[in-house]
Amino acid sequence: MKEIDSIRLKATLLVEGINYEQEARQGIGSKYKEQNHGLFGWDFENHLGVSLPDDFCLPDGTVVQFRFNSGSPYLVKKINDQICLFKGEEEICEVKWIERPGFYTASTSSGNEMVKIGQIGGADCLFFCYNNYCSYFSHKKECLFCNLVSTSKTYNSVLRKKDFNDIGEVTAAAWAEGTVNHILLTGGCFRGEKEVQIVSHIMASIKEHTGFDRIPGTILPSPAKGDEISRYYETGIQAIGFSMEIWDERLYSAICPGKAETTSHDDFLNSIKTAVKTFGAGNVYGVFVMGLEPRDSFLEGIKVLYGEGANVVPFVWSPNPGSRLEGHRAPSPDWYTDVIREAAEIAFESGVPLGTENHCYRCDGNNLLHDALREKGIV
Ligand code: SF4
Repeated sequence: MKEIDSIRLKATLLVEGINYEQEARQGIGSKYKEQNHGLFGWDFENHLGVSLPDDFCLPDGTVVQFRFNSGSPYLVKKINDQICLFKGEEEICEVKWIERPGFYTASTSSGNEMVKIGQIGGADCLFFCYNNYCSYFSHKKECLFCNLVSTSKTYNSVLRKKDFNDIGEVTAAAWAEGTVNHILLTGGCFRGEKEVQIVSHIMASIKEHTGFDRIPGTILPSPAKGDEISRYYETGIQAIGFSMEIWDERLYSAICPGKAETTSHDDFLNSIKTAVKTFGAGNVYGVFVMGLEPRDSFLEGIKVLYGEGANVVPFVWSPNPGSRLEGHRAPSPDWYTDVIREAAEIAFESGVPLGTENHCYRCDGNNLLHDALREKGIV
C-alpha cells in the first residue's frame, strides 16, 4: 500500500463522501458510535432508519467524519475483522470505527435518553445543542449551506430543547467514562440576554454535576456582542466561538442573508477582538465554512483572525441535503489540501496558542486545520 497523506485523504473523503458494504455496518449503533443528528446532517444523502457511523480514524489517528454518498468511488468493506477503505478495487488503508459511549444507552433521572441530549463529536468532544431552532428559516433567510430544519424534520432524533439538569447529568456520565476531554455547546439561533441566561444555567448544572471550576470547552452562541461576551466568560466556559461563516463581506451577505442583517462582518471582528481580551489569546474561535469563498479571501480571514489572537475552525463544506445548496459541488480535494496547509502555516507563524484544552484534532472529523497543525508538530 502507498504511504498515506492523511490530510489529502480526509479532504477527499469529506468532498467525495463514502459508500459502504452492508457487513461494514455491523456493530454500528451498538459497539460503535452511530450518527445521531444533534444539529446538522453532513451526509450527501439522508438515510432514515439506517444507522451509519458518525466518524472513524485513519491509521495515524486522524478523525474523519463519515459522509454517506452512494455514488462515491470510496467504499468501506469488512475484511475478516478489519474495516478497510477502498477506491474502486484499490485498497487504501484500514480504518477504525469509534467506540460507542456507554452513556448512549443510559437515561437521566428525569427519564430522558442521554443520547437525545448530548452526543460525542469525533473521539472526545461532548456536544450539546440546547435549542435546535433558527428563526431565519421562517423568513427564508437561512444560510444557504444550512440544513438544520430539514435534518430535524427528517430524523427527529434528539430532544429539541434540553433540560439544564439533564445536561449536567449527561456531562457527568460522559466524563466518568474517561474518553471525553472537551464540551461544545451551541443553540441554533436566538438573541441576546435570554441565551446568556440559558447558558449560565447550563454551566451551573455542569459545574454542579462534575465539580469543574472552569469548563474545558467552547460555547458557540448566536453572535455575542458587547457586554454579553464577559457574561459568557463569567458562566465558567473556557472558550467562545463566533460563527462568521464567510470572510468576504459581500459573499457573507449573500450566503448568510439573515445573519448578515443582524451581525455585520465588522461586528464579528470587533466582538472577536473583545473576546480575546476577555477569554485570552487562543481561547476564541472564528468558525468558517470553507469552500464557499475564494482562496485569497479565506486566507485573509485566517491571517486577520490569527493576527488578533484568535483560532479558526473551518468546516469543510459539502452540499448537505435539505440545504439551499443541495446538489452543488464542493471545491476539489486538492484545493482544500493546499489551502489548509497554507492556513496552517499562517496559524503556526502567528504563535497563537492552539487552545487544545478546549478543542483538539480529535474533536472534529470535518475540519482540516487541526490536522494540518498536527502535521507541523502542534497537537
Ligand atoms: S444561523 Fe445560519 S447556520 Fe446557524 S442555524 Fe441559522 S441558518 Fe443555520
